Amino acid sequence: MSNSARRMMTSPPLSGDEAQREERGPASFLRVPDAAATGCVTINLDQLARNWMGLADLVAPARCAAVIKANAYGLGADRVIPTLVRAGCTVFFIATPQEGHQARRLAPQADIYALDGLLPGSAESFARDAILPVLSTLTDIETWARLGARLGHPLPCGLHIDSGLNRLGLTARDARRLAADGALMSGIDVRLVMSHLACADNPTDPKNRDQLLAFETLTTLFPRTPRSLAASDGLMLGPAYHFDLVRPGYALYGGQASISNAAPVAPVLTVTARILAVNDVAPGESVGYAASWRASRPSRIATIAAGYADGVPRSASSSDGVACGHVLIAGHKVPIVGRVSMDLITADVTDLPAGALAAGDDAILLGAGLTIEDAGFAAGTIGYEILTRLGARFARRYIEAGAES
Ligand SMILES: *Cc1c(COP(=O)(O)O)cnc(C)c1O
Repeated sequence: MSNSARRMMTSPPLSGDEAQREERGPASFLRVPDAAATGCVTINLDQLARNWMGLADLVAPARCAAVIKANAYGLGADRVIPTLVRAGCTVFFIATPQEGHQARRLAPQADIYALDGLLPGSAESFARDAILPVLSTLTDIETWARLGARLGHPLPCGLHIDSGLNRLGLTARDARRLAADGALMSGIDVRLVMSHLACADNPTDPKNRDQLLAFETLTTLFPRTPRSLAASDGLMLGPAYHFDLVRPGYALYGGQASISNAAPVAPVLTVTARILAVNDVAPGESVGYAASWRASRPSRIATIAAGYADGVPRSASSSDGVACGHVLIAGHKVPIVGRVSMDLITADVTDLPAGALAAGDDAILLGAGLTIEDAGFAAGTIGYEILTRLGARFARRYIEAGAES
């Protein structure tokens, strides 16, 4: 802080301030919960369940799975999985063996598919946990068939066929080779054939149609096997893309994956962080590392206990007076100014009414009025990355059946 910056309020409010805080603060359950926590991630499991049910209704008679990889996109698989099971979800997709083991414990009856297929040494643990690997190479299919032969019965699995993403999946040539190999086919129990779309966030992209046709053609090699093509964005392209099963992840967690088709979901997440100080900064003074932002007028700066270690992207920093990221304080959207540092961000609250905030209040980093898409766009990334990078340092609260836990 510069010499001329005057520290205004540094101590937390006394309990006598509570009534006043109640007036201007967010609803009490969104508050940073305990005195020592710098911030809080609040996850509304009731809304998560409503999101899954809304998507399930939208795609019926196709079935709706849930993608819960990466710790349910950072929201906490241990709470997300039981919530979705109770909502009626019976098919889950994870990426890794560890995620599969956890999912099996929390969803004992569900079909659980592993998107990354067989990692070295994982076949036995998948078989033990009754996880269905999504196989995408002939080598992995042979490995799975050998294990099935040893265990005395073909083991269930999914097949990933590449339809144009060129990431994972059997090539058209290998898919034909597999379909023609009766011995290999009878050594595995294929429960699902799937592929993944590259451009489904943009409904007008011609690649959607190309991949749809490629998928329809290639899946004729595996008749009577249930099919799945669409994730959160693809399922908004309409029934032609639904096949037997859709695989949303992001939309379940309140994300809008399509640039133009709004999914019937609402935000699940609120992230708040404590305001540590509110300081006056004189014109010409700079704020933060590298002095990248300078006050052009007498300014008030709120210093908030959240930084890139908590998942606020450093690329949400602003310089030269060009704002990038925003936070909500006392109901007002205010710009982050200066560099995002490891533990702290600074926001320009000059235009807020006098008395609207004080040290000890909370700022909203994500929530109603500040979506994960907004936060991603402001930082040059996407909402998916905002979700999966939410820091572990904040307290976590879950809302379930209207109550906190
Ligand atoms: C992650 C993933 C999904 C889910 O994608 P969302 O955009 O989060 O709905 C579906 N299918 C595959 C193959 C994936 O890797």
